[in-house]
Amino acid sequence: MGGGRIHILSDEVISQIAAGEVVERPASVLKELLENAIDAGARHVEVQVAAGGRKAIVVTDDGCGMDRDDALLAIERHATSKIRSAADIERVATLGFRGEALAAIAAVSRLTLTTRPAEAIAGTRLVVAGGKILEVSEVGCPVGTSVEVRHLFFNVPARRKFLRTEATELAHVRQTFLTYALAQPGLALRLVVDGTEVWRMPAPATLEERVRLLLGEDLTESLRPVQHERAGLRVTGLAGTPHVSRADRAGQYVFVNGRPASAPILAHALREAYQGVLPSGRHAILFLFLEMDPAQVDVNVHPTKREVRFRRPGEVRDAVIEAVRSALTAPGGMRAAAPAAWGRPAGAEVGRVEITDIPPPRTFQYPRLPLAPEPSGGAAPVLPESGATAPPERGPKEPPGERPWVWCRVVGQVGGLYVVLETEDGMVLMDPHAAHERVLFERLTQEVLRGRAASQRLLVPETVRLSPTDALRVREHLAVLQEMGFGVSDFGGDTFLVDGLPACLGEVTAAAVLRNVAAELAEEGSGTDRKSRRESAAWAREQVARAACRAAVKARTRLTLGEIEQLVVDLARAAMPYTCPHGRPTLIFMGFDELDRKFGRTS
Ligand code: ADP
Ligand code: MG
Repeated sequence: MGGGRIHILSDEVISQIAAGEVVERPASVLKELLENAIDAGARHVEVQVAAGGRKAIVVTDDGCGMDRDDALLAIERHATSKIRSAADIERVATLGFRGEALAAIAAVSRLTLTTRPAEAIAGTRLVVAGGKILEVSEVGCPVGTSVEVRHLFFNVPARRKFLRTEATELAHVRQTFLTYALAQPGLALRLVVDGTEVWRMPAPATLEERVRLLLGEDLTESLRPVQHERAGLRVTGLAGTPHVSRADRAGQYVFVNGRPASAPILAHALREAYQGVLPSGRHAILFLFLEMDPAQVDVNVHPTKREVRFRRPGEVRDAVIEAVRSALTAPGGMRAAAPAAWGRPAGAEVGRVEITDIPPPRTFQYPRLPLAPEPSGGAAPVLPESGATAPPERGPKEPPGERPWVWCRVVGQVGGLYVVLETEDGMVLMDPHAAHERVLFERLTQEVLRGRAASQRLLVPETVRLSPTDALRVREHLAVLQEMGFGVSDFGGDTFLVDGLPACLGEVTAAAVLRNVAAELAEEGSGTDRKSRRESAAWAREQVARAACRAAVKARTRLTLGEIEQLVVDLARAAMPYTCPHGRPTLIFMGFDELDRKFGRTS
């Protein structure tokens, strides 16, 4: 073996990898730019977004600005004005300190930085594309900084592909904006989306005013002021009364020293604070600001995650619980009486949720596919007449058998691939490729075992040219192939003539199948029995069947609902329904028991 496999990555690659840590989507760019503006002491910040941020994000502030040298340094990796030593991290009072964000963003976008410190008469403009500085010039500009980020991931197609629709990215951008607008009521903010102003927030404002602007008047009415201080730990903000709870924690905004933060201990404390007034599975809405000595918080857990760690978690927990509880029970806060009435969100009938915008009820008309209790060998499975069937009941279970299900209903498809099924036991996800492979594989191997597999003659025989080693393998196993329904003959050289294929494979090209088969036959396995295995016809048969079925399944990019339903029935009757011939799972189960548990419905 020659050496030279290991080499040091180029700076360009290194920065792209590093950028991946920080910049995931337009919203992460906005987060970093907003934090920089806040750290720069800005009083006004304007955010402009085009095409969900995919096309452009521009953040303009009136903060301290940078001189030319600092601007050039700012876009370097590990360049920061916020800390000097590792010890500084312990008492960092700014939002940033890693010195990574601007470099990361510049590495994966076209970035223009325009900035001027108050004492300078002219500003500096830097134009950077994919981490390369294209232009440094002196410009006239207001005091402060404007960072324009265009064409995010223009040079990282793999990343660009992971971006979601414009609407989704915009939703994340707006959520980020909202979070920082709540965190900084002292900062005036404006958000302009595709040329239209969507939010304008004057300052200074109170938290309540911000909540009203961003989340609506009615929510504000259900919030109670939180004010608590003990031993250098201050908890302030607004806590929601139980009747504005949510099923998730998305309404919980917690800021630790001005930084949007989360920590398991905080989630815990909030659950406990509302214990007894919120049913399990419901979460309060609240806006909490925790302030403490920076040395009491570790914010260096992860570059982008909000997770923080507290040096004295117990004290934080107690303070939060006490702060929230006293807010809820203060006079004029919650009614102190009738905690029983808080058990359920007002007006909601527990256990029943009507969703009005669920797409077509026709999904309920797909038939249940009963499985004959005893599959009589080889008989074609009978599909029930298609037509309206009532949604199946979650009834008493039939005794568990060998089969994955007794009846099954195709609910739909997700991700353009996976089939969602409902069975008597729960929800099942099926990989139709893997399932199809399994079904074909068993069909083909059984036909061979029973005699000779049915062969489908090709209308036009194909010649297939293989690589020399592949040709060798195929030639070695020509007899097995013929027995399995392959009309293959040696055409000389590395070429074969194919005039028939196993009928069960359906429409597939001879070349695709033969290449796959050759490759699979080359998989010799390892160990001492390698030679004997290679020589065993059974081994070859299995390899051929595996490869042929995979090729056949790959060729199918469309299946009708009818075919999927047939597949569901066939799979349930397979001898080994749970894995494809290559060992990948065909089905993933999520039982009703498990769902109930996850939704906290266990009684
Ligand atoms: P960090 O914020 O962790 O220090 P960044 O890469 O985000 O790292 O920024 C690098 C440096 O550039 C900052 O430390 C700061 O000195 C400067 N900087 C970035 N954005 C601004 C801004 N909007 N106004 C003034 N200075 C800025
Ligand atoms: Mg920063």
